[in-house]
Amino acid sequence: MLALGLGAGVPSAAGQTTPRARNVVLFIGDGVDDHQLTIARNYLLGADGEFVFEAFEHRAAAKVQTVLERDPRVPVYVGDSASGGTAIAAGVVTSRGRVATRAGTGEPVSTILEQAAAAGKRTGIVTTSSISDATPASFAAHVRRRWCQGPREMWPTPTDPRCPEDLKANGGLGSIAEQLAGSGIDVLLGGGYRYFDQPDEDGVSVLRRASDAGYRVVRDAAELVETSEVSGKLLGLFGDDTLPVEWVGEAGGRARPLQLTEWGQVIAPQPFGCVANPSFGTRPTLQAMTRAALTRLESAPDGFVLMVESASIDKQAHAGNPCGQIGETRALDEAVRTAVAFQETHPDTLILVSSDHGHSAQIVPWPSLFASRQDAQYPPGKVARLLTLEGGEMAVSYGTNTTYLEEHTGTQVPVYAQGPGAAAVRGLIRQSDLFGIVRRALALE
Ligand code: MG
Ligand code: ZN
Repeated sequence: MLALGLGAGVPSAAGQTTPRARNVVLFIGDGVDDHQLTIARNYLLGADGEFVFEAFEHRAAAKVQTVLERDPRVPVYVGDSASGGTAIAAGVVTSRGRVATRAGTGEPVSTILEQAAAAGKRTGIVTTSSISDATPASFAAHVRRRWCQGPREMWPTPTDPRCPEDLKANGGLGSIAEQLAGSGIDVLLGGGYRYFDQPDEDGVSVLRRASDAGYRVVRDAAELVETSEVSGKLLGLFGDDTLPVEWVGEAGGRARPLQLTEWGQVIAPQPFGCVANPSFGTRPTLQAMTRAALTRLESAPDGFVLMVESASIDKQAHAGNPCGQIGETRALDEAVRTAVAFQETHPDTLILVSSDHGHSAQIVPWPSLFASRQDAQYPPGKVARLLTLEGGEMAVSYGTNTTYLEEHTGTQVPVYAQGPGAAAVRGLIRQSDLFGIVRRALALE
């Protein structure tokens, strides 16, 4: 069905034709790997469940790619959102923390959104984090360190050298928010108001710069709906920083270190379920933002490229909060559903779903498989017992850091694809290959 109506193909070197996509919607689940997906799928959909993107015809595993800053020839086997975002957005392997700049030299690298815009396409970014956070920034800004989100964050702190070389006064491009305000991206929806509500080096607020550049600024779901028919560029800032998550653990339930009795026996933690987050408020969901972006971009005369990120799968995994992770994975699935519905009426749309790096949560047996032994060992980190929809339970363990936030992990990540150009997603690829797959699908090369 999707093979029909794809229009003219582009001849490849081998003389075959690669189906041409007019539009691309690229989803990134931040911190998503097979284990994080399995936890969310089991909880939400049960043993026979399947996320909408898991039914896509084309699938690959992608190697996460990053290198040492001081010697970019040396691979590092755990990435972050800046290195992963840059690999996907620009096809360039860089060091952790760098946003669309080369390791070692700092040379800016051109992104798929910039190249699509140069070819006359419209562009958009949707995220549940600050839109100046590392993942979205990698598609539209170029800085040394991901923490340089607003003008104030450019200056060194006692623990972080930040981005003085990127100050405009030093010949740089300015903070990420400043670069987004001048990016010309047609739709920018997410959080991060506080990075825009700051004066730049000339004392002019970044918000003012954005409106001077033609952006209409909206702050809540009602304004987003009201402006759906208004043409022009749109900057939606629905929170000060990362947006609140959709789900939380019932009665504050999250993973916690196991407690022991005075005789050293493990006390089983109370099982719990997940509930809607009462402080989510009247913000638009990821699905609503995705729908609004697609509605605005639909009329683009030469098609569009839209990046949609579910950001807090990662942030909630760092915090050892399985219900937060599960709710944000659900949000990703719902946003993909909206894109799939769009694709049904616009079959010249390629949908990709992938991730920037792996994360920490694992499903573990509860009780331990060795519980009958006197010296049975239980997970050394934090554990949550989640109640499943079948009336059972699933234990989730986080064991990558004893005192602070849980860590990213170095596993390969999944890629799912459907639509023209999707057949290139197969086998084992590199994150940076996604850049070429999108370029070829759009005939940008
Ligand atoms: Mg992110
Ligand atoms: Zn992270």
